[in-house]
Amino acid sequence: MSSENTFHGWACSGKDQPLEWRELPLKKFEDDDLEIRVTHCGICGSDIYALDNLWGGTDYPCCVGHEIAGVVTKIGYNVTEFSVGDRVGIGAQCDSCGDCDECNNDKENICRKGVTTTFGSHWKCGTKTYGGYADKWRGNKRFVFKIPDGLSNEEAASFFCAGVTTYWPLKNHGVTKGSHVGVIAVGGLGHFAILWAKAFGAHVTVFSSSERKREDAKQLGADNFVVSKDKEAMKAQVNTLSHIICTSYNEGFDWIDYLYALVPNGVFIMAAVPDLPLSNIPGRVLVFRQISVVGTAIGSPKTIREMLEFAVATGVRPWYKKYPMEKASEAVQAVRDGKPRYRFVLEQN
Ligand SMILES: [Zn+2]
Ligand SMILES: [Zn+2]
Repeated sequence: MSSENTFHGWACSGKDQPLEWRELPLKKFEDDDLEIRVTHCGICGSDIYALDNLWGGTDYPCCVGHEIAGVVTKIGYNVTEFSVGDRVGIGAQCDSCGDCDECNNDKENICRKGVTTTFGSHWKCGTKTYGGYADKWRGNKRFVFKIPDGLSNEEAASFFCAGVTTYWPLKNHGVTKGSHVGVIAVGGLGHFAILWAKAFGAHVTVFSSSERKREDAKQLGADNFVVSKDKEAMKAQVNTLSHIICTSYNEGFDWIDYLYALVPNGVFIMAAVPDLPLSNIPGRVLVFRQISVVGTAIGSPKTIREMLEFAVATGVRPWYKKYPMEKASEAVQAVRDGKPRYRFVLEQN
């Protein structure tokens, strides 16, 4: 391997193994590709799931990270949309078939042949995909996005997964001025959901398991804060919400409370990635109140571009703390320990 075709990144060689800074192969540089120097990478819950093999099937060695921001250092022959020196980002998806009905209609995030994920997947050429806890990234231009002038790279990084994962479903399901949105859990996704819902002009109710995040929720713009264990407080929410976005799903989830909090025709959006089956959904409540329980998956390239502009226009910015790239292991452990308020971003000098 010549160093021109490799990168260095924090890689994990197996479950419970430490992250090690090591050299790994980049994909072959093709005409539609560009290469970037990574400046920042947000830490997403999915990174931990992959590193710790919590969803099963992690293909070690893995180098995670799919909230990548950087600067273009090299462009392929067919790349006219970007120039060397452009600030760009990459999210959780780095490729798709490019050929199915979804791909042809700005829905690449649900490509029917499956999405190529930014780490733990394979490029069409067969090379494994590796994420952004790294010095370089190389890949197809279709899933690379210019970062607008109004956003710095460190601010932009976490928009590429947490940002779009919450922006898209709210947009897709018509959240607007006059909507009443419930946000379940204040974390990486939840804090973005509050910010977006407010930016769309909605009234926002936050559901949290304890009082701990009441003040944060208020500062993020929430109008109402409900401790979900408080049965009386939950009862008071009946018929108050047009939408609920769920960003954390655990065993014992009380579907009845939440589905009654929705008005008839309300939409319950599952934005978490539950590893448990959605059990105990009361069918009669769904049917007689015409409630929709829907899934949502990141967002298309078109949506990501639109989201970045919307963030600039409305001033939506994540709450984050930076860690130097050298301290990736420490940052990952802090995420396992539930420390982020509400995102950690690795920075490379
Ligand atoms: Zn993610
Ligand atoms: Zn496709």
